[in-house]
Amino acid sequence: MKIFKFGGASVKDAEGVKNVTKVLASQGFERCLLVVSAMGKTTNALEKVVEDYFKKADYQAEIAKVKQYHLEISNGLFEENHPVFEDVSLFFDDIDAFLRRNRSPNYNFVYDQVVSSGELISSKILSEYLNLKQFTNTWLDARDYLKTDSTYREGVIDWVQTQRNISLLDASRCYVTQGFIASEGDNFTVTLGREGSDYSAAVFAYGLDAEAMTIWKDVPGVMTGDPRKFEDVSLLSHISYEEAIEMAYYGASVIHPKTLQPLQQKNIPFYVKSFLEPEKPGTKVGNTEENRFEESYILKENQHLLRIATRDFSFIAEEHLSQIFAQLAKLRIKISLMQNSAISLALCLEDKYGAIDEMLQALQQDFSTEIIRDVSLFTVRNADMNDLDRFYVNKNILLEQIAKRTVQIVTN
Ligand code: ADP
Ligand code: ASP
Ligand code: MG
Repeated sequence: MKIFKFGGASVKDAEGVKNVTKVLASQGFERCLLVVSAMGKTTNALEKVVEDYFKKADYQAEIAKVKQYHLEISNGLFEENHPVFEDVSLFFDDIDAFLRRNRSPNYNFVYDQVVSSGELISSKILSEYLNLKQFTNTWLDARDYLKTDSTYREGVIDWVQTQRNISLLDASRCYVTQGFIASEGDNFTVTLGREGSDYSAAVFAYGLDAEAMTIWKDVPGVMTGDPRKFEDVSLLSHISYEEAIEMAYYGASVIHPKTLQPLQQKNIPFYVKSFLEPEKPGTKVGNTEENRFEESYILKENQHLLRIATRDFSFIAEEHLSQIFAQLAKLRIKISLMQNSAISLALCLEDKYGAIDEMLQALQQDFSTEIIRDVSLFTVRNADMNDLDRFYVNKNILLEQIAKRTVQIVTN
């Protein structure tokens, strides 16, 4: 089977949904499973619904906007009397009913029950539209297949159960399902982390022993840098799984970092291609001889630089480190870069869940801390080591680290 993943940008309006049929026509539509993200910026809008709900603000207003957006897209795709309008409305009724009934104070739990609707709605619209255009498919609820623990907003896949469920699929058919969403033991919805649809596609690819997986993007493929942030970048036509894992790990957001591991384990060829030019080859990720280790650039923004020292000038020892790391793990703060010296530890951190103040509080008793908020981490992979000066021009360098041919600079 082939796995195709369509991201939010590819289905942000009716034209985008129509374009999916062009992509499928160019690739052949048989024995394939489509994974789709929420349309456009829907996930952000649904996040705002949850925020407003907890702030006791008027969350209904934001729901109405998201509903209007999806009805407009549907208007551009279907005749007035098509049952999809009823289906779309029902999803919004479900959000409303859930929030009215809900008594749980658990933000992350409520988040997952609400924000997951974006993918349910987009996949329903896409599935119905494809059926209308003779791309016959069955809509699947990904939550019946992808099982996780109950780490809301960052579910951990239960591979045994997930594999068992996915193997029930009929590999001779075509399916449309959701990225980003899964469910836990009690069947409550769990999401897999922002931008997690690439990963969902890889989980399906793994479970189905797919012959290939393609993610369709608004860029020609994986480039030597994000074309929105860097000039003079070029397409990487072939990269190894390892190179792709490293790029994603350092923050190249074109591929979600968890995506590569399941694909690599089963050696599934992986393509990143443009949904605007589907016939172009894009980037092939897989076992390759042609990996040329080109210099590439990655910018990770919205980081914090935290410097931690012992209060009594004693060395930062193993027990200190384990205390610090335990706090980071508990608060789900991720380390993007770290460097230690005798009495201090510098951490460049990504704080997705807004827990940094709690972290500072927790360290206060035993450590002195200094924090610089909103810094950027600039990483150069496969750097030309004879010409490093150009990376330092006009930058206020807060921290730097060079390992092999990877240069990392924290700036503000
Ligand atoms: P999706 O629609 O699947 O969610 P994303 O927006 O997550 O797609 O990923 C595509 C974006 O990734 C591009 O628009 C581009 O700005 C960004 N990007 C970051 N790094 C790279 C890179 N090295 N090559 C290409 N695109 C990149
Ligand atoms: N819709 C989700 C998000 O915006 C998942 C994804 O698009 O990959 O984060
Ligand atoms: Mg995305």
